[in-house]
Amino acid sequence: MSRNILLVEPGFSTKFPPLGLMKISAYHKELDDKVTFYKGMKDEAYYQYWDRIYVSSLFTFQWKTTVETILYYKKIVGDDLSKIFVGGILASLMKKELWKATGILPLKGLLNEPRILDEDNELIVENMIPDYELFNESTQEYSLIKDSYFGYATRGCIRKCQFCGVPILEPEFIDYQGIKPYVEEITKRYGEKTHLVLFDNNILASKKFEKIINDIIELGFEKGAKFTYTKNGRTISKQRYVDFNQGTDARLMKEKHIKLLSKIALHPLRIAFDHISDREIYEKKIRLAAKYEIQHLSNYILYNYDDTPEDLWQRLKINIDLNKELDLAIYSFPMKYIPIFHKDRSYVSEPNWNYQFIRGVQRILNVLKGSVMTSEVFFYRAFGESPAKFLEILHMPESILMNRGFEPKSEEIEWLNKFRALTNNEKNELLDLLCTNRTIKSLKTATVYIKNKKLRNILQLYFPKEKTEQNLKLFKN
Ligand code: SF4
Repeated sequence: MSRNILLVEPGFSTKFPPLGLMKISAYHKELDDKVTFYKGMKDEAYYQYWDRIYVSSLFTFQWKTTVETILYYKKIVGDDLSKIFVGGILASLMKKELWKATGILPLKGLLNEPRILDEDNELIVENMIPDYELFNESTQEYSLIKDSYFGYATRGCIRKCQFCGVPILEPEFIDYQGIKPYVEEITKRYGEKTHLVLFDNNILASKKFEKIINDIIELGFEKGAKFTYTKNGRTISKQRYVDFNQGTDARLMKEKHIKLLSKIALHPLRIAFDHISDREIYEKKIRLAAKYEIQHLSNYILYNYDDTPEDLWQRLKINIDLNKELDLAIYSFPMKYIPIFHKDRSYVSEPNWNYQFIRGVQRILNVLKGSVMTSEVFFYRAFGESPAKFLEILHMPESILMNRGFEPKSEEIEWLNKFRALTNNEKNELLDLLCTNRTIKSLKTATVYIKNKKLRNILQLYFPKEKTEQNLKLFKN
């Protein structure tokens, strides 16, 4: 008998579609069940009978939303807890804690064996072709659904980096999964897509890398490939892109890899640059990419880990210099480190980082929409002309930091003059006040007790005047 299945992704914000739920949907549809998808906690879920409810999870810092969502849907199934399934990254990493918090024992890791969800069939959820039609009735919009194939050419990773959940979630490295039949089947069921996005954790660790590249070429994603289709009688041709979305491991990258990568419609080449100590190896690989005419690069830069603000600035600057020297477009994406078991985003890697500096970086990135521009002039204005100037910027009041024009305006100049007039001890005291008083109200209260005139004076600039239309227009005059 057909069952009524509800698939839920908690209401945290996310760009990518929940691939696990898409595969579970395909599994249930194969069994002739009816499948519905909800994003977040929906009232209408209470007015229907569900044979089963699945709740997915993602990052551990989304703990609160995830737990609230599970508890919400738990009420719907009443006493029959066998009807509710919880899985995904957070659920796998914090299985016991989530069990304690919700009373539901999560499923850990991938659903890569038969009979995990039902005893009476041999289907393997992990091997299902994801259901691209799952979100048709939903108002939730995800990237990739309309125009991309997405999946994995490998699983797991050969490394065991301390800050990463992959070794726990996918302990076995599978170096070839056969992306060809997977993509061909998606085409057959849901039509041809323009781009190919692969979520592999460490594609270069595959001994079958050349075979994977050949598969990609045979699928029509060779360098310069175009996707041509007809719409309203017109022929439209679009550039195709291949994106190894999780980045490539510079330490494993050899010339033979770059040569192979240069044969496909790669855009961009993503390389991580997590430690300044990797500088030599990183630069070498970027030069190799340039040699093989891979021009568009994207660079994840981990900060708030074992680095310092100065070393974050250095890594960003290295990219600016490489762009200039090699005529490349490397976009840097600074990513704040949050330990894998942290339940919110508040982690600060002290003493190198502190609340004020982290907030400063995030505010600059907010204005830049996450990525660091490739031009030197913009970079210097946003991040300062030296590590010392960057540190100064990180002390700035938010309202000034986010509203800087190409040329400093009177407020910024006033703040700079006052800041530079402080002694080192006074600067430390200011920083301490800013880190411990995280609201305007508490900062105002603390200011009342400050006897030092210079400090009292500069602190006045941290109390923003009324917001104006100009806010958030960094680098525009
Ligand atoms: S190389 Fe990447 S995927 Fe592999 S364990 Fe390290 S961070 Fe995780």
